[in-house]
Amino acid sequence: MKNRTLIIGAGGVGRVVAHKCAMNADIFGEITLASRTKSKCDQIASEITEVHIHTATVDADNTEELIALIKEVDATIVINVALPYQDLTIMDACIATGVDYLDTANYEHPDEAKFEYKEQWARDSAFKEAGIMGLLGSGFDPGVTNVFCAYAQKHYFDEIHTIDILDCNAGDHGYPFATNFNPEINLREVSAKGRYWEEGKWIETDPMEIKMVWDYPEVGPKDSYLLYHEEMESLVKHIKGLKRIRFFMTFGESYLTHMKCLENVGMLGIEPVEHQGQKIVPIEFLKTLLPDPASLGPRTKGKTNIGIVAEGIKDGKKKKIYIYQVSDHEQCYKEVKSQAVSYTTGVPAMIGAKLMLEKVWYQEGVYNMEEFDPDPFMDELNKQGLPWQVKEL
Ligand code: NDP
Repeated sequence: MKNRTLIIGAGGVGRVVAHKCAMNADIFGEITLASRTKSKCDQIASEITEVHIHTATVDADNTEELIALIKEVDATIVINVALPYQDLTIMDACIATGVDYLDTANYEHPDEAKFEYKEQWARDSAFKEAGIMGLLGSGFDPGVTNVFCAYAQKHYFDEIHTIDILDCNAGDHGYPFATNFNPEINLREVSAKGRYWEEGKWIETDPMEIKMVWDYPEVGPKDSYLLYHEEMESLVKHIKGLKRIRFFMTFGESYLTHMKCLENVGMLGIEPVEHQGQKIVPIEFLKTLLPDPASLGPRTKGKTNIGIVAEGIKDGKKKKIYIYQVSDHEQCYKEVKSQAVSYTTGVPAMIGAKLMLEKVWYQEGVYNMEEFDPDPFMDELNKQGLPWQVKEL
């Protein structure tokens, strides 16, 4: 029977997912792209030549609307690349209709700058009862970074003791300040307190308190700052013998200065403020002012390099490896009209969904990426535009 794929969200990531699913239409079958603003879906659909992409309007905050759309499309799988705020409504619509689910970012409440898997994991038994699978965090980080950890565990270590996830975007878009994906989600993440996990405990740091310089292959040395990142929450549960895990992301001086300044004047606030008789949320207003991440595509030059460094024991000896992936913003844009941050998220979303549809990765319930055999995913990365490297350090 032909599969029917419903993609929700027509932003930077949605564009890549739609293109990549169309390139693999033998698996994805009939593809529908739905979002709040249908014109964005129509624009993306008009760029895709491989197959015809159907489009639809949906408010993904509304479970009933989602249920109606999933039924209308008769979807086999829903790929959620809207915003993290919509994860639970979309998961609930999948439970109600008995359809598999995948996303790239964990649930976040719009009124609280905090993200965790708790509420998504809590739907595990409902997914099992409905006989469906949910794959959480199938982007790059979370996503590929989890698979890199599982691959290291499977092929290189008896026990992994420490993991550092290293995320570098050395792209230059020529603007004094812009974010490469949804500004609200990005700035909330970056301005929050840092956190890492050591010996069974979470240790909190001030925002940007811990910095190191890492020499990223094909990019060079960059200031990298410790942040909390969601994949750590599941990795501490699933990686054997782990004693410490940290996440670092690169930021340039200018980005940090702008951010500090915006924060100091209250522009990163998520609480509504009164402005000339109207309530506005500062960070939402800031999003309106900043360049649309989708518009950065044609201007961005340079590379991304995201990977993991794992240290541990193999056959009684100490071992340290680095697994990483380098993408080039201009190459990504040439292929699917999106810069590398959207590309490196959209391709793994497509791969996760492909493995689910092929039943290569399939189990009823709600899962994180590192719970499955990493090998088929790693093979697909090489085939679908995200080739990776392993280095022994
Ligand atoms: P964008 O802001 O570019 O796009 C989001 C899309 O979702 C827009 O088309 C928007 O519609 C749509 N949307 C928002 N709210 C609703 C709603 N209520 N109903 C229907 N559609 C809605 O974001 P990105 O494409 O950059 O990011 C998409 C997702 O990918 C996010 O969850 C982000 O956190 C995640 N991500 C994950 C990464 C990873 O490595 N794991 C890295 C980068 C991003 P409209 O145009 O009308 O506003």
